[in-house]
Amino acid sequence: TQHSKISLQVHPYGKKRKLMITRDVTAVQLAEAMRRDFVANVSHEIRTPLTVLSGFVETMQSIELEEEERVRYLGLMSQQAQRMQTLVSDLLTLSRLEGSPVPGQGEWSAVDELLSHVMQEANGLSAAISRPQHVIVAKGMPGLAVSCAKTELLSAMSNLLSNAVRYTPAGREIVAGWRLRDDGWGEFYVTDSGSGIAAEHLPRLTERFYRVDRSRSRETGGTGLGLAIVKHVAQRHGGQIDVQSEVGKGSTFVIALPPVRMREAQRN
Ligand code: ADP
Repeated sequence: TQHSKISLQVHPYGKKRKLMITRDVTAVQLAEAMRRDFVANVSHEIRTPLTVLSGFVETMQSIELEEEERVRYLGLMSQQAQRMQTLVSDLLTLSRLEGSPVPGQGEWSAVDELLSHVMQEANGLSAAISRPQHVIVAKGMPGLAVSCAKTELLSAMSNLLSNAVRYTPAGREIVAGWRLRDDGWGEFYVTDSGSGIAAEHLPRLTERFYRVDRSRSRETGGTGLGLAIVKHVAQRHGGQIDVQSEVGKGSTFVIALPPVRMREAQRN
């Protein structure tokens, strides 16, 4: 193993060197523990819908169902299959992000264009999961452009918006927009009027599979990977994800990007 290879090389160098290597081994062990956790989590996430799915298959094989019941069962089965598909797609997104080079400065996109793209998706999602629909307000910023890997940033933005939709009761307002801070950083923000999140959960939100309310997340099709993806995308662009939240009032999630990534149109 990597561990034993390292310690074989250690002995000739005396005590000081040994200490350093011990720390390395701890890091290796930590990484290994994280990998094991991750595999266990993924297995669990896949096994749950799979168990439900095979339960339905067995039932349908063993008893004759009325047409109406048959249709209902197929609908539920399709939901479980969809859940696995979303999970696999989020996992692939994460692994692609980890393996690909950091996006260069080359490609500039108008923030308003990105915004209208994710707004459409969010309205679609709201229509699909809630009645009445949410009131989603877009606050664009004409002339502001961002240098980014467009598909990546779009997926991060739409993750935040879809969370806002999924964790805000029907009919309430969600505001999403871009703004430029005085220090030159650009921010994409989403403010919802949903359940809010207690302070003790905030530091852990971007961990893979961390959920405040497991059943609510599942009900609305969550994989528990959304914010991990957002964090990755922000960091790859030299930025970060921030969140402020108050239980019962709502949350504001922000993707903040450094000045080198932002460009204002020249004013005449
Ligand atoms: P999920 O797929 O479960 O939504 P995320 O990584 O996107 O996974 O979010 C992690 C957890 O953070 C969610 O399960 C939820 O508990 C909480 N969360 C995220 N966004 C919001 C929000 N806008 N309002 C309340 N809770 C949220």
